[in-house]
Amino acid sequence: MALRTPEQFRNSLKDGRVVYYKGQRVEDVTTHPVLKIGVDSSAVDYELAENPETRELAVVKSETGEPYSRFFLPPRSPEDLLRRRLLCETGSRVCFGFPPFAKEGGSDAVNAIAIVAAHCDEAVGSQYAQRLEAFRRRLQHEDSSISITMTDVKGDRALKPSQQADPDLYVRKVRDAKGGIIVRGAKAHITTAAYTNEFCVLPTRAMSEADRDYAVAFAIPANAPGIKIICRSGPWEEGTVDYPVANRASMVEGLVIFEDVFIPEERVFLNGEWQFAGPMAAMFSNYHRVTAAAYKYPFAELLVGTAQLIAEANGVERVAHVRDKVAWLVMYAESILALSEQSCYKASKDPLTGLYYPDPVIGNASKFFFADNYHQAVKAVQDIAGGIIVTIPSEHDWNNPETQPLLEKYLAGSQKVSTEDRFKIIHLVKDLVASELGGFWEVTSLHAEGSLAAERLATYAHADMKRYREAARRAAGLVVTGQKISVPAGH
Ligand SMILES: Cc1cc2nc3c(=O)[nH]c(=O)nc-3n(C[C@H](O)[C@H](O)[C@H](O)COP(=O)(O)OP(=O)(O)OC[C@H]3O[C@@H](n4cnc5c(N)ncnc54)[C@H](O)[C@@H]3O)c2cc1C
Repeated sequence: MALRTPEQFRNSLKDGRVVYYKGQRVEDVTTHPVLKIGVDSSAVDYELAENPETRELAVVKSETGEPYSRFFLPPRSPEDLLRRRLLCETGSRVCFGFPPFAKEGGSDAVNAIAIVAAHCDEAVGSQYAQRLEAFRRRLQHEDSSISITMTDVKGDRALKPSQQADPDLYVRKVRDAKGGIIVRGAKAHITTAAYTNEFCVLPTRAMSEADRDYAVAFAIPANAPGIKIICRSGPWEEGTVDYPVANRASMVEGLVIFEDVFIPEERVFLNGEWQFAGPMAAMFSNYHRVTAAAYKYPFAELLVGTAQLIAEANGVERVAHVRDKVAWLVMYAESILALSEQSCYKASKDPLTGLYYPDPVIGNASKFFFADNYHQAVKAVQDIAGGIIVTIPSEHDWNNPETQPLLEKYLAGSQKVSTEDRFKIIHLVKDLVASELGGFWEVTSLHAEGSLAAERLATYAHADMKRYREAARRAAGLVVTGQKISVPAGH
């Protein structure tokens, strides 16, 4: 077994993959001026494994003492989930609130498949669980990066996969082939698509029998023949003062197109067992919503700090309504932390595999709480900062000797903060909440890791309604069906 260095990770991406950015074919994603920002952010997952300060968190040992990434550890206790959660948080803090995402999402998918594949095997006699565990050992050994590749392009949202006018609007098996299957379709919004080693492909929703061919899960290298990746464009312009976060860390999403791609049998983890498509998608969400809350916590932390810095730079840090807003932002950030940790403490154990997954109700609440309040958090920061965050001149003006003294004089704020520092802080606020990146984050908070509606649905499905009803029945003086006062498990 081996842990790769960040450089080995970068070199592994020079593999002939087919990537497009703004209409151009990209020959080498590691040297491309924009995609490189994403590559370098993903490399942080590898840096954490090398850094003596984080190695103990990022690396675990096999039974024979060989080191491998914690992301590929099957979670066998709440403690395993908590350590993994902390690792996600740590990587995101290094990248200014962006998850490095080399392994975060993909390993959530691996854990979800491990559980649902075992249940599928038990029900229909398939052998997916052992294939998955062989694949997991491969990930441990090769230290690959792996992306979660779940969201189909979906066409008409009111129609099921098999009802779409074009049959390829959800990824599907086109036919069986010798030693594997052939798949076609496209997955949208895939984070790290252009610079991942592996795609871990899952169904995005529950399926009916008519959708049997769409009930497929598999893993495939990003350079496999027939895969094309078209990247999103982004806010990237020159300047690390003008764009201090966007130009230093990022994740880049891509549309991943499968044009009759051959998937070897040993990499297929679901193939027509439509009853297990929904459970697989749901189990992935159980893991991923908590992973999301873990990596969003440092971003919330950054918003608090940014609000406080700009308040100090403008001399309004003692104003009552400003303090109220900063205090609310602190509550916002720390509640995300508390919910995501609590979902790990109260983890459930799958009886068949012995694997643990975060409490679905609290886990969904952690992501929902972040997303539902995100725009409120942005509003607080914008309110404190003032209109200057959209009218600030650029760092090019600061660097021009003709205009620099004028900016120095007229952009002065609090006497306790230099004008140059205030200039940088204003640009930080702009980058986070009043730029193309700011808009990206607003949409991302709502939709990435599942929409608000998806989180509400999952919460309702997993809620211990019996306990809630019992409480209300007692209070109303109705006949109580269960224990008079029940103590919920885990308390
Ligand atoms: C920055 C970013 C990164 C992402 N990264 C990944 C990734 O790495 N891997 C991955 O697999 N996905 C990824 N996603 C996708 C993310 O999970 C989806 O955006 C999310 O699930 C919503 O799907 P959608 O964007 O297709 O929106 P839609 O499905 O079109 O939803 C839009 C609205 O319509 C509602 N709606 C849609 N269909 C129905 C229906 N049938 N009934 C009722 N209401 C409906 C939704 O609830 C929502 O309110 C990412 C998204 C973003 C923005």
